[in-house]
Order: sequence, then C-alpha cells, then structure tokens
Amino acid sequence: MRHPLVMGNWKLNGNKAMVSDLIKGLDNALAGVEGVDVAIAPPVMYLDLAQQLLGKAQNKIVLGAQNVDVNASGAFTGDISPEMLKDFGATHIIIGHSERREYHKESDEFVAQKFAFLKEQGLTPVLCIGESEAQNEAGETVEVCARQLDAVIKTQGVEALLGAVIAYEPIWAIGTGKAATAEQAQEIHAAIRAHIASFSQNVAEQVVIQYGGSVKAGNAAELFAMPDIDGALVGGAALDAEGFAAIAKAA
Ligand code: 13P
Repeated sequence: MRHPLVMGNWKLNGNKAMVSDLIKGLDNALAGVEGVDVAIAPPVMYLDLAQQLLGKAQNKIVLGAQNVDVNASGAFTGDISPEMLKDFGATHIIIGHSERREYHKESDEFVAQKFAFLKEQGLTPVLCIGESEAQNEAGETVEVCARQLDAVIKTQGVEALLGAVIAYEPIWAIGTGKAATAEQAQEIHAAIRAHIASFSQNVAEQVVIQYGGSVKAGNAAELFAMPDIDGALVGGAALDAEGFAAIAKAA
C-alpha cells in the first residue's frame, strides 16, 4: 500500500541558528509519530548542517532539496548536480515547483529533464504540478496537470513514476491561506490517478500523490482522510516544529 509522505518545503527561509532549532524541535515533536514518512527540504546551503543534525536525531527524518540542475559537472556556474545533493544525504528532490516554473521560466520539458536526471542517480523526484487560479476558473485543472505529467510519461514511460512522488499544488492555494477543500482536492487527485491509470493501473495505484497549498494542522486530517491524498507538501506551516509535527501526526 502507499505510504503517506509529509514533506516540509522551507523555501527561501532560514539561517544556521534557525535550521538547528527547527530540526531539534522537529525531532522532539515527532516522537511517537508512526506510519508516515517525514521529509524536510531546507535551502541547499544548509544541507550539510541538516545532515549532521539529522544524523543525531532520534526520529527518522528524510532529507530533501528544493531544486536541482541538469548537468553532472563542468562549466555551469551556480548549478547544483544530483550527485552533490546525494553527497549530503538528500534523497527527495522537489522539481517543477510553481515558483520555479513562474520566476525561473522552467518549462514542462525542462522539469521532465530534471526528473530523468534524478532517477538516473537513484534519487526521488517530488514532481510538483498544479493549475493557476485562471486555469482553475476556466475548468482546465485536470488538463494542465495531465500536460505537466505527460512531459515525463511521454519521454520516460509511465513506469518512471514508480518510486517518484507527485505533489498536486494548486497555485491559488499556495501561501494564500485558501487551501482546496478536502473534496476539491480529492476530485483532482482522483483525476490525476485516473490519467496515470490510462497508461498503467499498477503505477496509478502505487504512486504517492501529495496535496500542497495552505496545509496546516487544522485542515490536514480531513485532507488525509481522502482516499487519493497521500500526505502533503507543506510550505509556511513547515517552519514551525509543533505545527509541522501535528500535520505529520494527522497522516
Ligand atoms: P504553503 O503551505 O505555504 O501554502 O506552500 C505550499 C508549497 O508551495 C509547498 O511546496
């Protein structure tokens, strides 16, 4: 059966003191939490510190990152390779976040390239998909999500989704406090799974599909009660140890 994953995307937040306090706080707050995988993606600068602290933690917290580039080495100023992330123990790598698609003009094809590159290195892509408010209002949600997924499926085959994670994040729900209702999210998660099932029933049944967008301790349980919602990708609420642990407990 699918195992829910609750992952914190810390985005562009933190410094050494904050990373240290938050990881120690999380380790305390997560005591006794079972049946859910928990991951954090601090800014890449702090992976080294996070890896050291997680090595001393009592609870299992998986390390992730928020992005990767598509070259292994060489003259690519500023880029970070999958091997480098692996070197610091990061396994779950967020790609295709709407903030990168928007501010860095990342295309579906480019995101699919990152996906392939991570898989090649044995890392777990956490592939973000989701529609804008205008696309939502135009009734294009499922079409947009299918197109974003197809960039991977059509180039790498549907089996490439095995061992990867999909995060459905409606852009209008990110950082707005306006989460999709559990029913709205379930409807889209089921449609995403049905789209994958049109290629492979087996892959559709196995792939973890997280919900992201204004998830908090207060709405997590109802979202996670839905049959097609397998945990969450959490932004703002992941910066508070107690709040994030409460979300993990709800999964
Ligand atoms: P918020 O939880 O702050 O809405 O952010 C969601 C998100 O973008 C996680 O990747």
